[in-house]
Amino acid sequence: MIKASDFGSDFIWGVATAAAQIEGTASQYGKGPSIWDTFTAKSGKIKRNHKLDPACDFYHRYTEDVALVKLLGFKVFRFSIAWSRILPAGRGEVNQEGIRFYHNLIDECLTQGITPYITLYHWDLPQALEDEGGWTSFSINAAFNAFVSICALEYGDKVKNWIVLNEPFGYTSLGYMLGVHAPGKTGLSNFFPAVLHTALAQADGGKILRAEVANANIGTTFSCSEIIPYTQSDNDILAAKRVDTLMNRLFVEPAQGLGFPTADWDVLEKFQIEYGTWRLQERMKFDFDFIGLQNYFPLTIKYNAFIPVIQAWEVKAKGRKKPHTSMGWEINADSFYNIIKQFAGYPNIKNLMITENGAAYHDKITNGNIVDAERIDYFKLYLKAVLKAKNEGINVTGYMAWTLMDNFEWAEGFNARFGLVYTDFHTLKRTIKYSGYWWQEFLGN
Ligand code: BGC
Repeated sequence: MIKASDFGSDFIWGVATAAAQIEGTASQYGKGPSIWDTFTAKSGKIKRNHKLDPACDFYHRYTEDVALVKLLGFKVFRFSIAWSRILPAGRGEVNQEGIRFYHNLIDECLTQGITPYITLYHWDLPQALEDEGGWTSFSINAAFNAFVSICALEYGDKVKNWIVLNEPFGYTSLGYMLGVHAPGKTGLSNFFPAVLHTALAQADGGKILRAEVANANIGTTFSCSEIIPYTQSDNDILAAKRVDTLMNRLFVEPAQGLGFPTADWDVLEKFQIEYGTWRLQERMKFDFDFIGLQNYFPLTIKYNAFIPVIQAWEVKAKGRKKPHTSMGWEINADSFYNIIKQFAGYPNIKNLMITENGAAYHDKITNGNIVDAERIDYFKLYLKAVLKAKNEGINVTGYMAWTLMDNFEWAEGFNARFGLVYTDFHTLKRTIKYSGYWWQEFLGN
């Protein structure tokens, strides 16, 4: 049986959340609208038209929720700062109530003996900045840098662990290419400028934190998925390489000073030329103290000439009769190990942390209990993969489960439950799931 002590006494155990998914009070206490407030207001974008507010009402219940983090045995709480709570218009006037809220939250963590890890950007861009073009616009970088400075100066004395961006590929692809997430933009003409400005923000943010926060531990996160060719045909192998370039390499390589990964995909070569990105290679570089990996599924990829640009197609887990979660995401812990190894292969990465990993299931309360045995099995399997990587000498220094409690799962609304704690979205009552108790025992509390 796997034990927390197998990972060593300084291994970091945490649980992760994000502001837009839990806070609620979207238009209260001086907060300005974010792109997710706007996006959810448009009908048809979110399953069952769920709205962001009140989500888990974390804004009013953070004391109780930090106590839950502690009760489950985690030593780290990862949360994000809602940019438009600090700067309602994205830049300019600061909302003191917002500043105070995060001070209170940080103080609560520290009082309860929980170390805060702050994510600066977890997808909730101020709508006022989106009105100027959002991540597609060059003006985003100065605004982001000013926001980072404010947070660093305000909280840097108390908070030493910082994450600049959450999954840059996630929000640039879903929000600016496929249009299924906020702000709902589509096409390469939005995607590529969003990618460029994001890669700049990633490094600029790191540099600002380094300058403003003494003894900071600075990271950023990447979604990652092992990309498996469906067959060993040249076409499938090349299609898998293109997807790997896009999903796994697009943002981590510029951070290491390698520029955008153009070699395996001519479309990126054209992007590089059109936007002159090689000129910005030095600015996109930052020596992160840790790299956060977030893994939910591998992808099996088949060549398909009818899919524009990428000419690749996912062969879903369900069709291949593979075990999967309620999101349809394949459960495959070997692929988790493989992708950790792939990232560990970059010579400049010093330290890897798993900053998100978890699974959604159709949880139900029966006689007051949520018996989510599948989620417990999932965590056991995935933790084994982390341990295997660690025992082979890969410097994995922590693991954060996604997520503390069921919350607003973006385009899925409240339908996808990832929490260790069950949220009743009518009464907002929290009930610890069996998986939450499993963690409690695992972490020795
Ligand atoms: C995101 C989370 C999200 C989770 C599950 C990650 O991509 O960072 O915000 O809820 O995946 O979909």
